[in-house]
Amino acid sequence: MIVSSMSDLAVDLTALKHNYRQLRGLCDPGVKFMGVVKADAYGHGLLPVARALADEGADYLGVGSLEEGLSLRQAGLNLPVLLLLGILPEEAAPAVAADLEVALFRLDVAQALAAAASSQGKKAGVHLKVDTGMGRLGLIPEEVLPFLEGLRACPQLEVLGLTSHLAVADQEDKSYTLRQLEQFTGVIRAARDRGWELPLSHIANSAALWELKEAHFALVRPGIMLYGSPPAAERPVPVALQPVMSYTTRVLQVKRLSAGCSISYGRTYTTREECDLAVLPVGYANGYSRLLSNRGEVLIRGRRAPIRGRVCMNLTMVEVTHLKGVQAGEPVVLLGPLGEDRLTGDDLAGWAQTISYEIYLALGNANPRRHVGG
Ligand SMILES: *Cc1c(COP(=O)(O)O)cnc(C)c1O
Repeated sequence: MIVSSMSDLAVDLTALKHNYRQLRGLCDPGVKFMGVVKADAYGHGLLPVARALADEGADYLGVGSLEEGLSLRQAGLNLPVLLLLGILPEEAAPAVAADLEVALFRLDVAQALAAAASSQGKKAGVHLKVDTGMGRLGLIPEEVLPFLEGLRACPQLEVLGLTSHLAVADQEDKSYTLRQLEQFTGVIRAARDRGWELPLSHIANSAALWELKEAHFALVRPGIMLYGSPPAAERPVPVALQPVMSYTTRVLQVKRLSAGCSISYGRTYTTREECDLAVLPVGYANGYSRLLSNRGEVLIRGRRAPIRGRVCMNLTMVEVTHLKGVQAGEPVVLLGPLGEDRLTGDDLAGWAQTISYEIYLALGNANPRRHVGG
């Protein structure tokens, strides 16, 4: 057997659809729903995830690049798609040709889009990106009205709405988020006073979707909760989300070490007593973070087994002394349920000092994915 084929990264599209329905249920019927599928659907696989969301009736998809937008179109997905990070001027023609909408914050891009739309006899849908306090992409609020004035020379552009992003919507203290919402509402009002209709403004990520109905506006754009994790590990969400990704493998070797043996590179763990060790055919080449060294746990027979020593490129060692008689070939869960217990993206993220988003991306990008359900 090929060692790498002992591992299995599964993406459960039935769980994804369940999460979609839970989130949809938190929104008023008139609110549109954009499934955020950037970065290869957070490592879950762009096309299977996009198809599942489209099947469920998602109104929009949000992607990170022109390439992702084009692959949705090539796969025959016809729903509206927003390029969340905008485009470069040279990407305007293919974006317009594929009817991809663009987050807009540069005048040269606006002009390129207008020219492409004009030569293709089309309109280009844009969402004006405003920085209301995220300190990342977008025009600062004072720039919005002058920018819109500049767009009057580009009648080929259809300004569908303003869009912004929230910096701390996942925190319990909502004061900064409410200030961002105030800024956002303020610029929308000012633009409307000058005749811009803006039917489709939006700002809500997952955190704002479940905690701040006043942030829903015309459209919500959740990502992480679709994939089954709360935006902040320490704040459980009020809906029953189902984890979508799981990752399992099998024990490659079991051995008994005596007291005083060191394990793995750097000799960062030394056995105190006799120790049964299971070697797993998974490592950081599989997106299993080296930061899990001496910190993470896996599930064998539904019980926890702690990682001993450093996670290697293709191998990880766990202690199974307490499990008595673990055999080569036994199933091991690195992410997901086994028996009564389960390891979540947030469990791994906690051990690796990151967020569940990065765990899913790393595992999903580094392993062949098997999509199930749907
Ligand atoms: C990634 C992203 C989202 C989704 O955020 P989640 O925290 O995953 O819900 C929404 N909007 C923009 C602009 C994003 O980049």
